Amino acid sequence: MAGHRHAITLPRRATREIRVGRVAVGGNSPITVQSMTNTDTRDVAATSAQVQALAAAGADLVRISCPDADAALAVGPIRAAAPVPLIADIHFDYRLALLALDQGIDGLRINPGNIGSRQRVAEVVRAARERRVPIRIGVNAGSLEKDLLARHGEPCPAAMVESALNHIRILEDLDYREIKVSLKASQVGMTVAAYRLLSRQVDYPLHLGVTEAGGLLPGSVKSAVGLGLLLCEGIGDTLRVSLSADPVAEVKVGFEILKSLGLRSRGVDIVSCPTCSRQEFPVIGVVEQLEERLAHVREPVTLSVIGCVVNGPGEARESAVGVVGGAGDNLLYRNGAPVGKLADADLVETLVREVEAAAARMRAADPAAEGPPPATSQQ
Ligand code: SF4
Repeated sequence: MAGHRHAITLPRRATREIRVGRVAVGGNSPITVQSMTNTDTRDVAATSAQVQALAAAGADLVRISCPDADAALAVGPIRAAAPVPLIADIHFDYRLALLALDQGIDGLRINPGNIGSRQRVAEVVRAARERRVPIRIGVNAGSLEKDLLARHGEPCPAAMVESALNHIRILEDLDYREIKVSLKASQVGMTVAAYRLLSRQVDYPLHLGVTEAGGLLPGSVKSAVGLGLLLCEGIGDTLRVSLSADPVAEVKVGFEILKSLGLRSRGVDIVSCPTCSRQEFPVIGVVEQLEERLAHVREPVTLSVIGCVVNGPGEARESAVGVVGGAGDNLLYRNGAPVGKLADADLVETLVREVEAAAARMRAADPAAEGPPPATSQQ
């Protein structure tokens, strides 16, 4: 059934709200979806094109890595063309953070405990404070500090949380609280346990992710299970799905996770059957074409594409647009009611037109486009 009448998420955990450029993270703001470019940041044209593609797919925030000064200096021109706020990913070298801030970056991902003396941290914090730029502390189970590993024996949730708290304390000592935190591991269980633990101890917004999750299929499944568990518990303010795949897929998977829980509602929600010998038109091929042709639609239009009358009318009645396979002719539904017959050859074109029209009606009624996040995520 389309829609989300049956909320399964617990009330969202209360977190502080921070701002990454114009995008709010935490508090009552919608859970945001992030991804990261995998171009050479020094290649301004290629990186800008990928930022555009990610934003077009719905990314609310995009991270770019700044491994050297040339990359940090490319932040300015990339940001000037970027439709969404950008976050610089920096490791170890505080000068790169200062350069990226100088270039107008909207957010930093840097671990204050890894950049050396307190004075260096203080310099970065001063520059970040001046520009109201938040800092994400990103703990990764694969790169925990040696002393923590020695004490805990191996990477584990308690060590990850201790690492995060150490980094947090450094910023708090400088009275800086524009912070969000991630605790990523490649194992779903460790990731979930770490976030649960930290969420009971701090009220900073949490950036969720299962790191190095693998390729498109296994990585999506691991991310959906891990992030899904946490989101159901009200934990998580922003997320990234990490895939060894096109970053655009990360954004799509992130949104599908949020949509499946009723926490965001961007884009067309296609309800389609798994197909069997009863199908009256080639459902899989039609759905593949529709996914591609409708990727640009932001409004939450429900579209059911069902191969026969067994389940078709029931789903179509719950959808803005629907088609039900029928012998000879398929039946087109609009707003839950049958409105005409549809030959196989016209299926894709007609459904694209119908969904675009439904999206336009929605846009006219609510220029905010995506529509409000459901109340369940906003308590
Ligand atoms: Fe088969 Fe019809 Fe079910 Fe689709 S809806 S899987 S065609 S029985």
